[in-house]
Amino acid sequence: MSKPTLHLWINGQRTKSLSDRLAEVTNPATGAVVRQVPLASSADVEIAVAAAKAAFPSWRDTTPLRRSRILNKFRELLEAHRDELASLASEEHGKTLEDAAGSVQRGIEVVEFAVGAPHLLKGEHAENVGRGVDCHSMLQPIGVCAGITPFNFPAMVPMWMFPISIACGNTFVLKPSEKVPSCSLRMAELFKEAGLPDGVFNIVPGDKVAVDTLLSHPDVRSISFVGSTPVAKYIYETAAHYGKRVQSLGGAKNHAVVLPDAELDFTADAIMGAAYGSAGERCMAISTVVAVGDVADALVAKLKSKAEKLAVGPGNKKGIDMGPVISAQHRDKIIGFIASGVSQGAKLVTDGRNIKVPGNENGFFIGPTLFDNVSTDMTIYKEEIFGPVLIVLRVANFEDAITMVNSNPYANGTAIFTSSGAAARRFQNEIEVGMVGINVPIPVPMAFFSFGGWKSSLFGDLHMHGMEGVYFYTRTKAVTTRWPELTEKNTSTLVMPTLG
Ligand code: NAD
Repeated sequence: MSKPTLHLWINGQRTKSLSDRLAEVTNPATGAVVRQVPLASSADVEIAVAAAKAAFPSWRDTTPLRRSRILNKFRELLEAHRDELASLASEEHGKTLEDAAGSVQRGIEVVEFAVGAPHLLKGEHAENVGRGVDCHSMLQPIGVCAGITPFNFPAMVPMWMFPISIACGNTFVLKPSEKVPSCSLRMAELFKEAGLPDGVFNIVPGDKVAVDTLLSHPDVRSISFVGSTPVAKYIYETAAHYGKRVQSLGGAKNHAVVLPDAELDFTADAIMGAAYGSAGERCMAISTVVAVGDVADALVAKLKSKAEKLAVGPGNKKGIDMGPVISAQHRDKIIGFIASGVSQGAKLVTDGRNIKVPGNENGFFIGPTLFDNVSTDMTIYKEEIFGPVLIVLRVANFEDAITMVNSNPYANGTAIFTSSGAAARRFQNEIEVGMVGINVPIPVPMAFFSFGGWKSSLFGDLHMHGMEGVYFYTRTKAVTTRWPELTEKNTSTLVMPTLG
């Protein structure tokens, strides 16, 4: 039986795609196709960008206070529909309902931040920058903005982008992951219900065809991207080539450094959630433990015992800790990584490859997997696995741990577990990573701070949300003003003006 087919969202309407290309959206817990999604053509994207361009002048001229009221209503609707959005995210991604609800909440908090638009968009003013001369700066919207998002946070990552862009007076075209399109489409309906004018927010589900059209479109002023590093680099280079403002967030290999003075039960529990929550498919997942000095044996024993107790199954079932991974192809890739770890000499402490989930035999499950004695030349250290595979590397001292983290090309998040303030302070100063946790395993900054990594985890200058999000979605204009008295003498001069 053919499955329901989703739509695009253009100009405030469900819109049929001009393309006949479709992708299947699968429930990873059952392996069954639940719906189909159109893969937008270039012509579809052109129409969406034209709608966003047409809506821009009036939205730009809508006062920030009015925009903020619509965002506030949207926030209320998101809260009222949190369970529905979580259920769509869980169905299409596989994560547990509780975890999905938490990620929807983190997205709602970005909307909550964006509600502050009237305050956030205030510029600066200085009186008497020269004799009788004042200067003020304004933050003005940039026009049509585009966002391209990954599969692993169907609601939250889109919400890192469009609420702030729209609060700043821009219009937006979102290209969500074709694997998890439903949350975005539902959020667009709720935003319309909140009073958002048609054309301000548009959605073009699709693949590279839609992405490439956005990257080269002359009316798209900025590109926000979140996804894997090779694609992030491509997006950054291509969009920059076309003269666009770009923030392009890539993959990760997040290390947790555990010092011998760490409180071990607390640390092992924290690492469990950070490594295996969402089946390891979080850009801030802890995938690598760096065990310092003699802490390793006791730590690995605790991690093993806790990992083996985790309940694996469909994310919509009560009592389940960990759901499946996104696709059969991704499961097979992770199994390949585990095999490479074994063949390259790492010690496989817990093997999740042969897990059986009764009643869900066709789901894409892998059990929690733990490796010890991993070294930096192994593939399981060098590559982002993006699955429930945790690796432990042993180092002699804190110095070596810092060197290891700083030598890794990825630099999204990291954490230290210790009871020493001095060690924690040194770590936060010397570590070359964008987001740092001190006894906090997944240091995802709140919406009023900015989210972003360094090095191969982010191409571009500005991070997402917080004030960096506001700066990304606005241009600064500085106005210098003088109101001369009519009695003033002619001050014309050919000399470079200096105001002092
Ligand atoms: P992905 O790079 O495969 O896809 C991301 C988006 O890019 C999707 O919308 C996809 O349709 C599009 N895309 C894929 N290939 C493309 C191509 N060749 N040309 C143009 N567009 C293309 O990533 P994913 O598998 O959906 O998500 C997982 C990745 O995202 C992981 O690497 C994870 O670390 C990363 N991620 C990073 C962050 C962060 O904040 N740094 C957050 C979430 C996820």
